[in-house]
Amino acid sequence: MGTGSPVPFVDPRTIVLLTGVMGGLMAVVLYFLQRNYPPSVKGLRYWTAGTAVLFAAGLTAATRGLTPDVVSIMLANLLIFTGVYLQFFGTEKFFERKTRFWPRYAMICALTLVSGWFTVVNPLYMPRLMISIIVMSALFSAHAWLILRHGGRSFAYRFAVLILVCALLSQVLRFATAWLFPTGTGILDTTPQNLIYMISYPFLMLLSAISLVLMATDRVRAEFEHLASHDSLTNALTRRNLTVACQQELERCRRHGRSMSILLIDIDHFKVINDSFGHQAGDRVLVQFVSGVSTLLRRADVIGRLGGEEFVVLLPETPTEVARVVAERIRAKVRELDSPGQFTVSIGVATNLPDTDSVDSLMARADRAMYKAKEQGRDQVVLG
Ligand code: GH3
Ligand code: MG
Ligand code: MG
Repeated sequence: MGTGSPVPFVDPRTIVLLTGVMGGLMAVVLYFLQRNYPPSVKGLRYWTAGTAVLFAAGLTAATRGLTPDVVSIMLANLLIFTGVYLQFFGTEKFFERKTRFWPRYAMICALTLVSGWFTVVNPLYMPRLMISIIVMSALFSAHAWLILRHGGRSFAYRFAVLILVCALLSQVLRFATAWLFPTGTGILDTTPQNLIYMISYPFLMLLSAISLVLMATDRVRAEFEHLASHDSLTNALTRRNLTVACQQELERCRRHGRSMSILLIDIDHFKVINDSFGHQAGDRVLVQFVSGVSTLLRRADVIGRLGGEEFVVLLPETPTEVARVVAERIRAKVRELDSPGQFTVSIGVATNLPDTDSVDSLMARADRAMYKAKEQGRDQVVLG
């Protein structure tokens, strides 16, 4: 900006530069997240790289007029596309999609070359702008759609989609204003479309990086929650969480006058399996048992581990007779399992008594029924 010229409302170069620097700071934040978060959270590397590339893009675009157009326009364009694409690709990895990086990136590079032709050989702003709008819109839409399909309902995912939709809208606006005021010649002009774009871009850039951080944090929280509520060996619910689930179901039954049942399952002569095949083989049997039983259960049913080789299956909205059928199915399934040393199970069934039952009394009845099954020779189902 010359000293004699009036001060413009915004200085585009400063905004471009500041946006770049913000990208740089967010890249640093993402880099440290990537170093400290468990490796099970995928995609952080690409998010970091993408955000860092956007930082470089900001710096490069800000050199407009000071460096050749090939650098300040063509290279800057390529860097912006690359940064946005890397962020999108990171999200694909985050959701463990098996997509390949290069085919789509080759297309982006080809479009950048075409755009470069309109920079160097035949300098025309409109075709260049249209290519930029097409690439960015495609990436923002694909990214938003990806999160909509695979993300959960938590705030982080909704926020990320919202930001991407805003980014897409800013491209639509850029497209509309380009036709209404087709006067601009480049990204640093103070034309209306550039002003809108310039002002929204830093915010979107910052917020989208924040949304990535939130998504990663949400994933880590979900993983810790799972670890805290599930048994690490068998992945069945822990005793405490099982009790909470039973409590909630009992209250629901009381309110709606429904029945629920629980099955208390104890593996027969488990000590013998441990003694003959080793403790590790015993562990494998426990894992096989839970995954085998899980295949028989409905979505709402829950399996939890009371401890050792004792498990509880919670069957919501299930009367005794149906629970007995499920128990018999489990007993049959256990015989089919391909495990070291065939084993059997004894199962006690208990169904809630309207109004009077607590989790403790229900468990106690199932436990008594299970012991009766043991006394009567094991490998059977007894109703409590
Ligand atoms: P019963 O038919 O009367 O139920 O006999 P049992 O041998 O199954 O019952 P008991 O309670 O005598 O033995 C349970 C065994 O389970 C003893 C314990 O060492 C073993 N156990 C408990 N937790 C684990 C575990 O996590 N892994 C393995 N491998 N064994 C376990
Ligand atoms: Mg046992
Ligand atoms: Mg036992």
